[in-house]
Amino acid sequence: MDFSILTIFPEIFDSFVAHGIIRRAIEAGIVSVSPMDIRNFADGKHRITDDRPYGGGAGMVMKPEPLHRAIAEARKQNPAGRTILLSPQGRPFKQSVASEFSMLDGLIFICGRYEGVDERIYKYIDEEISIGDYVLTGGEPAAMIIIDAVTRLLPGALGAEESAEKDSFSEHLLEHAHYTRPPVFEDEAVPDILLSGNHGAISDWRLESSLVRTLLKRPDLLDAKTLGNREKKALKQWCQYIEQLISA
Ligand code: SAM
Repeated sequence: MDFSILTIFPEIFDSFVAHGIIRRAIEAGIVSVSPMDIRNFADGKHRITDDRPYGGGAGMVMKPEPLHRAIAEARKQNPAGRTILLSPQGRPFKQSVASEFSMLDGLIFICGRYEGVDERIYKYIDEEISIGDYVLTGGEPAAMIIIDAVTRLLPGALGAEESAEKDSFSEHLLEHAHYTRPPVFEDEAVPDILLSGNHGAISDWRLESSLVRTLLKRPDLLDAKTLGNREKKALKQWCQYIEQLISA
């Protein structure tokens, strides 16, 4: 998967590509991450990429010509790339969108700055994506978030000991609770089942933990979920605990 990023601050990505799973995925040839400086496509000695808005008002707008040239070059280098304009006005980015993007061969991100991009750039993009209902100063953190979430879904990107399968949002559930050593921390012990070696019981405990967390923290996710028998049983058991607590 090839990620191209059009930005006026390409150096922001230096550290992003130098660590952890992203670095490993680059080294393994699973992804390429190529920041491209929009200023290289701007005219004149000062390589200006923004200008005042027509009609007046505060802020600057990213000029269309450098962006248009940068998009054309990115498409040459990344011909299979879907061109994404990062914008708070776009389709909300979710795990399901990460999954959809992980099937593509490439993505080209346009990172806006200032008030955003000249409206005439819209006809050169495939899609507008938002990472949430808040406004960032620039699209670069949004590009990193999407690249990160997509990369970990690509075959081979996670090590054998890591897995995206049970991650939160897969199967419309949040992931179960985790514990590691020590077995007792500040008087709080790890649940016995997790130390039991009984894989069936551990799996049931994790399913219940996952369901209960989703119910408490993000009940909206369950609206889209069809519960199987195992899941219904786990929830019923939990309802029984609650009934016992209430009637005690
Ligand atoms: N004036 C724009 C508006 O109100 O819709 C916001 C511009 S914002 C200050 C500058 C740039 O940051 C945007 O062009 C976009 O690339 C990026 N950005 C800001 N918030 C974002 C979000 N929630 N998701 C994705 N990109 C965002």
